[in-house]
Amino acid sequence: MIPIAKPYLTEEEAQAAYDTILSGWITQGPKVQEFEEKFAAYTGAKYAVAVSNCTTALHLAMVVAGIGPGDEVICPSMSYIATANAIKYVGATPVFAEVQKETYNLDPVDVEKRITIKTKAILLVHQIGMPADIDAFKVLCSKYDLKLIEDAACAAGSAYKGKKVGSHSELVCFSFHPRKVISTGDGGMITTSREDYYNRLRLLRQHGMSINDRVRHEAKKIVFEDHVEVGYNYRMTDIQAAVGIKQLEKLDWIVNERRKIAAVYNEAFRHLSFLQLPLEKEGYLSNYQSYSIYLKKSCPIDRNSLMQKLLDKGIASRRGIMTSHRESAYKQEAKNVSLPVSEDLQDNSIILPLYVPLQKKELEFIIDTFLSIVKNKHQEVPAF
Ligand SMILES: *Cc1c(COP(=O)(O)O)cnc(C)c1O
Repeated sequence: MIPIAKPYLTEEEAQAAYDTILSGWITQGPKVQEFEEKFAAYTGAKYAVAVSNCTTALHLAMVVAGIGPGDEVICPSMSYIATANAIKYVGATPVFAEVQKETYNLDPVDVEKRITIKTKAILLVHQIGMPADIDAFKVLCSKYDLKLIEDAACAAGSAYKGKKVGSHSELVCFSFHPRKVISTGDGGMITTSREDYYNRLRLLRQHGMSINDRVRHEAKKIVFEDHVEVGYNYRMTDIQAAVGIKQLEKLDWIVNERRKIAAVYNEAFRHLSFLQLPLEKEGYLSNYQSYSIYLKKSCPIDRNSLMQKLLDKGIASRRGIMTSHRESAYKQEAKNVSLPVSEDLQDNSIILPLYVPLQKKELEFIIDTFLSIVKNKHQEVPAF
């Protein structure tokens, strides 16, 4: 059985977790601080704040951006549902916008049409690791005085116009869930260019506490903390951070390996005109968190049959990225929402296995199987 994804974890990560457990400091402490500093340096961001996952990162980003009840935030429906949920957590309304068919990323033209007097922010997503056109959204945000927040859950190691994702705007949120390119089990990070955001994010992730555990622990004089506002417990543990530090060291290598696999897929499928392959435009660098293909109307086999036939041969695949407005949690409030491009992409895209290390043999098997399924189907179609 070939799975859809696998985290790349080695003895090194296991040793780092082991050492941290025995160090006596297991929740947020020195390893979290080290991971934050290294992540900021890696992305080129000014500051980084580690949290429990990307959903809590997005929640805190909403809070510090000042989003609240009555506000609207424009985001793609075609994203993991946590994107929309984070907007809900602060009492605001997600306004779903359309994506571009070629990149699966938010369409700035459609976004502009949905801006109202209530719009407070744009929450863009770098879908499956392909950067969105950040500059186009920066232009919209300055024109309409909106906040820009990036959901970069899938985009650690991706780059836009020569700079790593995480360095372009005030609030960028990452995930270290096992389905992403590097993992800490669960985990998240917020990068920010603003010192005031940095300070408030650090307060909010730890109950609004004015003095963190480490400072109190190391203090030579007695100190008492104050809880300056209502915060949350969104801490990352030092065990996770120790794993994250080792993962971060491998990130560029992992991205490079993933890109090689994507290139092999692209080369193998290039001649099939009924497939729309991933589009990586000049200035965009994807970490290929997922490899998704859109099946055009002319495709000789429908998506679900293709998935089943692959599964019959022991190859896992997934359907296209979900559309939040069609999930039960949003169906009622989104009953008048029509997003034909997003819906078509969800219904007719397939995600193929991509992980490190996907063996050459496995990759060839996936490609041969895929080609024989679509070609046999091809011959079943009468030739007139
Ligand atoms: C995975 C994902 C999330 C959620 O990340 P967690 O770390 O699991 O909370 C949010 N947004 C997008 C686009 C994702 O792919």
